[in-house]
Amino acid sequence: MQNKSKANPLVVILGTGGTIAGAGDDVGYVAGQVGVPQLVAAVPALKPRALEAEQIAQVDSKDMSHAIWQVLARRVAHHLARPEVAGIVITHGTDTLEETAYFLHRVLAPAKPVVLTAAMRPVTSLQSDGPQNLLDAVTLAAWAGARGVLSVLNGRVHGPVEVRKALPFALDAFSSGEAGPVALIQEGQVRGLRPWPAGDALGLEALATDPAAWPRVGILVSHAGVDGVVVDALVAAGARGLVVEGTGNGTVHAALLEALARAQAVGLPVWRSTRCTGAAVVGAPEGALTSAGDLSPAKARIELMLRLLTSAA
Ligand code: ASP
Repeated sequence: MQNKSKANPLVVILGTGGTIAGAGDDVGYVAGQVGVPQLVAAVPALKPRALEAEQIAQVDSKDMSHAIWQVLARRVAHHLARPEVAGIVITHGTDTLEETAYFLHRVLAPAKPVVLTAAMRPVTSLQSDGPQNLLDAVTLAAWAGARGVLSVLNGRVHGPVEVRKALPFALDAFSSGEAGPVALIQEGQVRGLRPWPAGDALGLEALATDPAAWPRVGILVSHAGVDGVVVDALVAAGARGLVVEGTGNGTVHAALLEALARAQAVGLPVWRSTRCTGAAVVGAPEGALTSAGDLSPAKARIELMLRLLTSAA
């Protein structure tokens, strides 16, 4: 697969599993069956490209773990440091793609493109979207000027803060909400729409400890009839922080707020996000909870966990 030159920049593909590597019918398939070399072989247009492949994991991404994230972040950093590597593609499941994207963004904030891609249909489906998504991801990873952690699906390039799986079965399942995509890929050309994602990297040192010891941050949902039982259970289980998925602009049921105040009183940071998808919590709604701003509850959990890991919560 190797053949590197300036006209044909080297891209490293890291496989982690997901439907893109799945086999079976559109609903009854098993994710994470096919290795990266077979995924590449299914895309004739990738044949002349300079590619390297490495299998990091082979999981259904609903089962993504902190341990896999630690290995993945280290391998991504390793390949990014190689001057001959133009960019990296990560094949992933759709279910937690947005979490892995945000995690890598915060830890590495890379100056080269790190492009996650996935598929809503397995390669055995009549509507398989994996081959085109993989081709688009390689195109973007080799694109001069592209940078940051990006996700490519259905011709749209999403940033790590905004990207979200919005629909559970549709082929066009991913959205950047009100912000919109960062770029489009049309006929093999990248059309930029917004600046590439950038930020301050926490660095791999943040991940030095055993993932089993990474701080527990729980996510709770505010809903009609809720009480504080889950909050108290999480505190008793040793949670170090909490994210509440509030209603509307991050508002929280009074019964839940009472329990969250008890958690804060014993030193836990509590962040407020929203059940609404596609937009941020605006301003600082009533009460003493920190706003998660643009972050979805799942991404706010990652952010708070990383801050606790680096003692900056
Ligand atoms: N459950 C699969 C996964 O996330 C779904 C997919 O990839 O589309 O690995």
